[in-house]
Amino acid sequence: MSNVTKGKVVGFAYHLRNSQGETLDESSDPMEYLHGYHNIIPGLEKEMEGLKIGDKKSVVVPPAEGYGEYDEKLVYEIPRTNFPPDEELVPGSQFRADTENGPVALFVQEIVGENVIMNGNHPLAGETLNFEIEIHTIREASKDEMEHGHSHGPDGHHHH
Ligand code: ZN
Repeated sequence: MSNVTKGKVVGFAYHLRNSQGETLDESSDPMEYLHGYHNIIPGLEKEMEGLKIGDKKSVVVPPAEGYGEYDEKLVYEIPRTNFPPDEELVPGSQFRADTENGPVALFVQEIVGENVIMNGNHPLAGETLNFEIEIHTIREASKDEMEHGHSHGPDGHHHH
């Protein structure tokens, strides 16, 4: 019987709720990841360590070990005219912006008059995450997966 350890590809189902008990996300099919390579948030990955197939667990992940604390300084108000005219700007649209600290992901929070409120926080920043997880599969990673540091699909297909 194998356990979740570094270098294993783990398939698990999850149900994610916020601290108000509202569902934020739920897996339809089990999600696979390569354990020990920071492919999932740190607060969840460390609680996976040592679990076996069939194990169920409730995991509470504080923001610092999830998607980060909410940072007001990452909210920007940008004139609509700074965007290409054909760019569709609707709340939730994601953009990548190059900054002196490297690329950052921003999403459109709302449109206020002639300005676009852009937010560089992860949409789940500041949230305490309440996971219910169940381990479905554990297998050895292939050589390719170990070299890439992430899992590949059942047909060896790449998800990059
Ligand atoms: Zn790969």
